[in-house]
Amino acid sequence: MTLELRAKTPGGPLAEKWERHRAELRLVNPANKRKHHVIVVGSGLAGASGAASLAELGYTVSCFCFQDSPRRAHSIAAQGGINAAKNYQNDGDSVHRLFYDTIKGGDFRSREANVYRLAEISARIIDQCVAQGVPFAREYGGLLANRSFGGVQVSRTFYARGQTGQQLLLGAYQALCRQIGAGQVRMYPRTEMLDLVVVDGQARGIITRSLVDGKIAAHVADAVVLATGGYSNVYYLSTNAKGCNVTAIWRAHKRGAALANPCFTQIHPTCIPPTGHHQAKLTLMSESLRNDGRIWVPLRKGDSRAPGDIPEAERDYYLERLYPSYGNLVPRDLASRRAKEVCDEGRGVGPGGGHGVYLDLRDAIARLGDAAIADRYGNLFQMYERITAESPYRVPMRIYPAPHYTMGGLWVDYNLMSTIPGLHVIGEANFSDHGANRLGASALMQGLADGYFILPYTIGDYLAQAKLPKLDATHPAVRQTGAEVADRTRKLIEANGRRSVDTFHRELGRLMWDRCGMSRNASGLKDAIQKICVLREEFWNDVYVGGRGEDLNQALEQAGRVADFLEFAELMCRDALEREESCGCHFREEYQTPEGEARRDDERFAYVAAWEFTGGKPPVLHKEALEFEAVHPSQRSYV
Ligand SMILES: Cc1cc2nc3c(=O)[nH]c(=O)nc-3n(C[C@H](O)[C@H](O)[C@H](O)COP(=O)(O)OP(=O)(O)OC[C@H]3O[C@@H](n4cnc5c(N)ncnc54)[C@H](O)[C@@H]3O)c2cc1C
Repeated sequence: MTLELRAKTPGGPLAEKWERHRAELRLVNPANKRKHHVIVVGSGLAGASGAASLAELGYTVSCFCFQDSPRRAHSIAAQGGINAAKNYQNDGDSVHRLFYDTIKGGDFRSREANVYRLAEISARIIDQCVAQGVPFAREYGGLLANRSFGGVQVSRTFYARGQTGQQLLLGAYQALCRQIGAGQVRMYPRTEMLDLVVVDGQARGIITRSLVDGKIAAHVADAVVLATGGYSNVYYLSTNAKGCNVTAIWRAHKRGAALANPCFTQIHPTCIPPTGHHQAKLTLMSESLRNDGRIWVPLRKGDSRAPGDIPEAERDYYLERLYPSYGNLVPRDLASRRAKEVCDEGRGVGPGGGHGVYLDLRDAIARLGDAAIADRYGNLFQMYERITAESPYRVPMRIYPAPHYTMGGLWVDYNLMSTIPGLHVIGEANFSDHGANRLGASALMQGLADGYFILPYTIGDYLAQAKLPKLDATHPAVRQTGAEVADRTRKLIEANGRRSVDTFHRELGRLMWDRCGMSRNASGLKDAIQKICVLREEFWNDVYVGGRGEDLNQALEQAGRVADFLEFAELMCRDALEREESCGCHFREEYQTPEGEARRDDERFAYVAAWEFTGGKPPVLHKEALEFEAVHPSQRSYV
């Protein structure tokens, strides 16, 4: 056992930990900052804010993304909003309440000190973004407007219509562009990181492949930051952009970075239901719609009447019935499971076997009028109508749960450093703050907290003390890693089998959805592990990529990512099998209360599961015990 989990959580009272820690972190003087080169992989909200902030401090930064522009990072798709404990609504919000909501929402499976720091920093994120010109929605008097998201009873979500991610990313992108213009950041678009270079136990660079001409190159640096997003596409169908993948963190894992809680994957309740096997992508309808929308199904099984013909008394507003105090705004894991439950009972609506429930804005439209609703959700309504040919102003939307966000990711300490010294991980790519279930509008908050406000301090602490011998691309470890990447790329091209990459991905996705999706059980997970191993072998024997490695070759890009998903999926299932409890999104059918709620087992499972790669042998599980000083884990109740 070589891997050691040292969370480095500072001592002292919860509310003072971060301030004290910041005061104690080592500093790099301005002249020395210029000498340090940092690689940031990813230019979404986490990566762009991190790269821009590091460059602003004076570090020399190289930033990589696989899209043609940083502006196309998946963060641009975020719709509903970003949380902050500003209490503008005077409705009882506070740093402590945001902290408590987040830790309870995550079903007490996250690190207390990290979550408190996130809540504490949240207000500053909004100030930073407003200063950049992010056009948050405002109330008539000019103050920033707020709405509510699931799992809370206050309104603390800041938003820009249904395009919050896009507007925030434009802010971070401008900050990044300023540094590109100043020569402090060198941007490498259309460049995919395919491996991490580790020299003498430290992260010292990456190996990349140009997606334009296939050139494989080595980049060395003093530290590496991964901001490469989430892995929901392991399910093939998800709300994520098609390019989202696990490759960067998986390759880093294989070089020694522990992977934490990989089975904690969020299934979002509010997505447009799939219509068949032809589909390549699912579309989210933002949770913000649950502020004004009411979720219901017919009371009677198999009721095929049009929604408008079903009288009030024959509708079941099941979330309002089951959870009267939170109603339609219960956390995502609960809303998703309950939707599945009513559909499994035969009360689902829509074509294709009734895999849908209604999200009905009728009452809000009657109360506020079309124009007010269009102001809040106009672009979401347009998107829905374009996809389904139904107007949500006239007919209730149909929604069904879909894979959306991944709480698991590379394990990081309080300084956001992985188990490989010098490798920092920010945004959705790390496991940090959301436990077993993320609350809505908290991902943008975390990505920007990491990038603008935490990493810029903590990376300096590492650089100030690390011994960093001079290194260039001729170092044997760099050359060796580069050669391994070239070899793997060649093998994919040469497999020359009969099946397309996409068919393997679809098959894996269906298996993961059935066995390691919204609910899991031991026999299903064991079966999935076996089937994944068989599918993986078949992939390497029978995949057909076509084309050349020295060209633009999208099938090759996809093949590399699917090959990694096929390895990673097995770890997800092992993690889900090992955790013999239900918590948050991880619903093990064997462990539930008589009411069908998740039954945690704090005695045995109040830990972060951090997996070590052992190269061919079964992965080794390490446990970071979760200790709670300020909150007492209790059975989550939203009744
Ligand atoms: C449809 C949708 C709506 C959402 N709405 C909200 C919301 O309203 N509020 C909220 O808080 N959260 C929301 N989320 C979640 C949130 O958008 C994401 O968690 C967040 O944007 C992730 O940001 P990130 O910077 O960590 O990663 P991303 O934005 O995914 O960026 C990843 C970056 O890494 C790069 N990259 C990845 N792998 C490699 C590689 N191997 N080599 C080189 N570059 C690589 C990519 O090119 C990209 O630049 C939503 C998610 C979805 C799917």
